[in-house]
Amino acid sequence: CPQTRAFHSLRPHVPLPPLSQPLSLPSYALSLLRTSSSSGDTAFIVDATNDQTLSFSQFIAQIHSLAYSLKKNYSLSQKDVAFILSPPSFHVPLLYFALMALGIVVSPSNPLASESEIAHQVRLSKPVIAFATSKTSSKLPSLKHGTVLLDSPDFQSFLTQPNVDTVIFDSVEVNQHDTAAILYSSGTIGRVKGVTLSHLNIIALIAGYYHIPYTFQEADEPHPVSFFTVPFFHVFGFFMLARAFALGETLVFMERFDFEGMLRAIEKYKVTFMPVSPPLVVAFIKLEVTKKYDLSSLLLLGSGGAPLGKEVTERFKEKFPTVELIQGYGLTETSGGATRVIGPEEAARYGSVGRLGENMEAKIVDPETGEALPPGQRGELWLRGPTVMKGYVGDEKATAETLDSEGWLRTGDIVISIPRVPPAELEHLLLSHPEIADAAVIPVTILTLIRFKFESRYPDEEAGQIPMAYVVRNPGSSITEAQVMDFIAKQVAPYKKIRRVAFINSIPKSPAGKILRRELINHSLSAGKSK
Ligand code: AMP
Repeated sequence: CPQTRAFHSLRPHVPLPPLSQPLSLPSYALSLLRTSSSSGDTAFIVDATNDQTLSFSQFIAQIHSLAYSLKKNYSLSQKDVAFILSPPSFHVPLLYFALMALGIVVSPSNPLASESEIAHQVRLSKPVIAFATSKTSSKLPSLKHGTVLLDSPDFQSFLTQPNVDTVIFDSVEVNQHDTAAILYSSGTIGRVKGVTLSHLNIIALIAGYYHIPYTFQEADEPHPVSFFTVPFFHVFGFFMLARAFALGETLVFMERFDFEGMLRAIEKYKVTFMPVSPPLVVAFIKLEVTKKYDLSSLLLLGSGGAPLGKEVTERFKEKFPTVELIQGYGLTETSGGATRVIGPEEAARYGSVGRLGENMEAKIVDPETGEALPPGQRGELWLRGPTVMKGYVGDEKATAETLDSEGWLRTGDIVISIPRVPPAELEHLLLSHPEIADAAVIPVTILTLIRFKFESRYPDEEAGQIPMAYVVRNPGSSITEAQVMDFIAKQVAPYKKIRRVAFINSIPKSPAGKILRRELINHSLSAGKSK
């Protein structure tokens, strides 16, 4: 049925904590952190503007102290909303973790937002308390529990309470479907909206990074140190922060960003990874000052938020041949990354946004008719999965226009997927196996060919497919999927490897003996659906 044509992520299924288990994002992140190789003394967060550092154990102690102090000094209830208006500082991550652990919703905004923008956001999310600095607080309206100044001695004392009961995290029962954060975004179109993300939304995203890391964690990989140029209040910074904590990574940021200061920090703190925006990648290419610093620790730049063209990647690789440059695609409404590049083989497809994220489904829909389209046609990308938002706060109309009753999110982005795997060579190899009677190879479409709202060209035409084999076993053979894949993998270039195998009784063919690939493609789509 064309209405239900959906692509499923080709990544392995990632297990999520059972939904019946009360679990806040901070508790989940803490449980993953305990399994990482970082110790309490490892630096978690570094402010490169003044070279101040908090180790994991200091950060955790301060979260506990802050949560305890907030509980004691303000009569906040679970599900209350706390507005945060601050430039980047240690206080912001500490507030996120302490408030979310208490079941309070964090709602950070851009410290440069205007008074009228803030008034609109406050009308939507209805915070009862705000956290701001003496510079930003004047832009806030008055709230039930007032505004707490982060640069006041009072707040400092909140962070340093002695002998705080460290079970505070576990004493609050947070449902995974409860709202963790309201992040502001202009959404698909129109006025700013408050995107409501649950604890589960962000837990699901982090679970993906935990179970399927970019590389397969070689023993000799250096300790991961990321440098943040993306703001903490934007979804990109928000989830990367939670990710860094959960995975035991060190995170370096600057209160006041400047390009050369960033280069100095990369050299000083041996930064290995950076979430970036495309303009910053262009700055890396264009500015000569990069040559003044030792950037040899850098392994990976992950770009997102806007298209990163193939040519930009090519120019970047010419200047920095040892640094991998990858991009992801996502929206605030999908808690950040909805697609991701994993491993050097995928990274070599310049201009591609990688594959659909783990546990996600996608449809390409004709925006006029709402009909789901087969591979090869252009349409609006719809996404469904555990990272898709709960809705827009205070805006039922926009929620209904964006999320349908089956949980599909209309992204507003126009995409095309083109299946193009030349199968004859692989079929020939399969037939050379003594246990294989007949075989056919079809392309399985993956969502990499994306033409976005603001872009008018098609990136990377070759990146939309992986080969899947249909195999008829010889009588008595019990050859397995893994054996078939291994047999081919030993003989072909990595991009030609068979990634999926299905066994069938016979290959559908026309009276003239031609393989009816269309039938197999339809079969693979409906099999994917019923998974
Ligand atoms: P926001 O919610 O503000 O992060 O914006 C989400 C929008 O940014 C998406 O709907 C896309 O139009 C665009 N976007 C995000 N990542 C990419 C990317 N890698 N390439 C092109 N556009 C992107």
